[in-house]
Amino acid sequence: MIDWGEKLKKMGILWQHDCNPATPHALWTSGRHADTFNNGSKLVENPNIMVQVAEGLIDKMKNDLSINKPDWIVGPAFGAVTIAYEIAKQLEIKFAFTEPVQIGANKEQVLRRFDIKEGEKVLVVEDAISTGDSILKTIKTLEDKGVSVLPFVASIVNWSESNKLGKRKINSLFSASIKSWTKNECELCKMGSKVFRPKANWSKFKKIT
Ligand SMILES: [Zn+2]
Repeated sequence: MIDWGEKLKKMGILWQHDCNPATPHALWTSGRHADTFNNGSKLVENPNIMVQVAEGLIDKMKNDLSINKPDWIVGPAFGAVTIAYEIAKQLEIKFAFTEPVQIGANKEQVLRRFDIKEGEKVLVVEDAISTGDSILKTIKTLEDKGVSVLPFVASIVNWSESNKLGKRKINSLFSASIKSWTKNECELCKMGSKVFRPKANWSKFKKIT
């Protein structure tokens, strides 16, 4: 049995602060400071590991999939494209993605390039769920088209502190809670830890062992 948390951390896909003030913490694109970061690109650049990740998620969903077999796997671009594709490949079913499009003041997940028919069954897959914003928008887009979205979803990582996304069960390989703060409230800054953008400063975040 693979310890996915350990494996993903070793690969630099997942990172969590170790409460040591000498360890820097993460500045998210939103401007918030956080004790957690995930870098899905580190997984995407290793297709052979992605194959194992997809196998792991399919294994987690074994019972759910025996009851509800999807016709399609759909993931929100860009983060979930490769994992959704690989799961679809292994299940020998179809794959599609939704893509982020600015509509008025909101960014929506739009299905542009694929013809999923009304009533077809879709399993929605994500690389990481925190607020669930992208995956919920994908589900809404599909339901608005009359597509049947299965009562469970899959995500490589679940940061949401819940095993449910609305009424749907979340299947994940690794789950944990995230702490994040505004610049002024950041507990890690108060502790003396420095803050960096993780992708641009990855060498600073690597654990010294
Ligand atoms: Zn901070």
